[in-house]
Amino acid sequence: MITKEKVKQLIEVNNIEFLDIGYMDYAALSRIRTVRVDQLDSLFAQGLNFFSGMMSFNAFDEYIPNPMYGIGDGDFFAIPDPSTFAILPHRQNTARMFCDLVDENGEPWDGCPRYALKKVLRNAQAELGGHISMAFEQEAYLLNEVEGKLVSADNSHCFSIEGIQMQEKFLHEFVKAMEEAGVKIEKISSEYGPGQFEINLKYAHAVRAADEQVLFMQLFKHIALENGLIGTLIPKPFQHLSGSGLHVHISMSDNDGKNVFEDLGDPLGLTEQARFFVGGLLKHARSLVAIGAPSINSYKRMYPGSFAPAQVCYGIGNRSTLIRVTEKRRGSRFEFRGADGTCNPYLLAAALVSAGLDGVREKLDPGEPLSSDAGILTDEEMKRQGIEWIPSTLDEAITELAGNEKLGEMIGRKIWEEFIKVKRTEVEKAARYVTDWERAELSRRF
Ligand code: GLU
Ligand code: MG
Ligand code: MG
Repeated sequence: MITKEKVKQLIEVNNIEFLDIGYMDYAALSRIRTVRVDQLDSLFAQGLNFFSGMMSFNAFDEYIPNPMYGIGDGDFFAIPDPSTFAILPHRQNTARMFCDLVDENGEPWDGCPRYALKKVLRNAQAELGGHISMAFEQEAYLLNEVEGKLVSADNSHCFSIEGIQMQEKFLHEFVKAMEEAGVKIEKISSEYGPGQFEINLKYAHAVRAADEQVLFMQLFKHIALENGLIGTLIPKPFQHLSGSGLHVHISMSDNDGKNVFEDLGDPLGLTEQARFFVGGLLKHARSLVAIGAPSINSYKRMYPGSFAPAQVCYGIGNRSTLIRVTEKRRGSRFEFRGADGTCNPYLLAAALVSAGLDGVREKLDPGEPLSSDAGILTDEEMKRQGIEWIPSTLDEAITELAGNEKLGEMIGRKIWEEFIKVKRTEVEKAARYVTDWERAELSRRF
């Protein structure tokens, strides 16, 4: 555990001159300011000020209407968490720390996503009797710009040697930069799409796991740029190629490291509490998708038969379902497959745990797992089994979330309300956008 004292030593020994200090906003953009290291004591004591209205920007850096905090509402302060100190090897004498946001009295700011996650985890730990860990698995494309068009950086195929080999320089630099920042990478695979990769982070305590995913989002792009490539996490960069998901594995262990979700005496290998947790994930699934897949483009990734989920269901070792439970004796845990790299990992983690906790509180039975391919279920079969579609657009997803006050209260009312407003501006912007496709398809017919 890195303490404030240790941070000072590390700065000294490694000749660090600058610190990146900041947070991730509701639109999932990292907002930072760079500070000279001689500010360190004041950073730890008072934090670094940011204009609170910045939380009310959408993904296009536009101010939303009726924001929670407007132009006259002053600042919040980012207090660095010393345990997240990491040197950024791809930058010049620069380190970074992730921050919690406090108000002008130094109290936790109720708009802070990282605090929201910490609060949810405290409640979950008290009521469920275990620590929640998460492991993020991000898929992403490497692209080149050719004559103004973005195209895959190579023509590799799934699990191919060529895919890894062609991008080896980038992949090794990326993995080493993550490792130097203290993140463990478990494996890299060349994915279905040409130039697409999946990179698996080792599981960690949920706050740490979310911090690491934020770093992933930053470094994947930075190091790709240094290699003359465009690295992108957008969920569906090309209509005819495989989409990029962000799968999240959720597990829980007690103080002795025992898996709290596992009961080998149960046919599915799950404790009663774990079954209820799944019940909660299913109950809130359509809202979880809104938080995990919060972009217009997110809904072009998920359709039947795409390896990305389209229906609200769970299965054992079944990759066509929204929630995949691992097979018995493989260390019971849940994989939520409905998110992508345009989400804020703190908000997603807070929402997932809140949903599970609600399921345990309400003793929600998840029913039988689905054993067939969800992608080929007929409407009739879905109806019989009570399986719903996940939202098919961001608009539908946000409307669902807006009607889910219970989840909103669990994450934090202000965050919930403001997130919905931020996303509505993106829905409206896209709705008015006239695409090349419309022009090409319709101009000669009408
Ligand atoms: N690319 C798929 C998705 O969008 C997932 C494929 C896999 O299971 O790794 O979620
Ligand atoms: Mg994959
Ligand atoms: Mg996966």
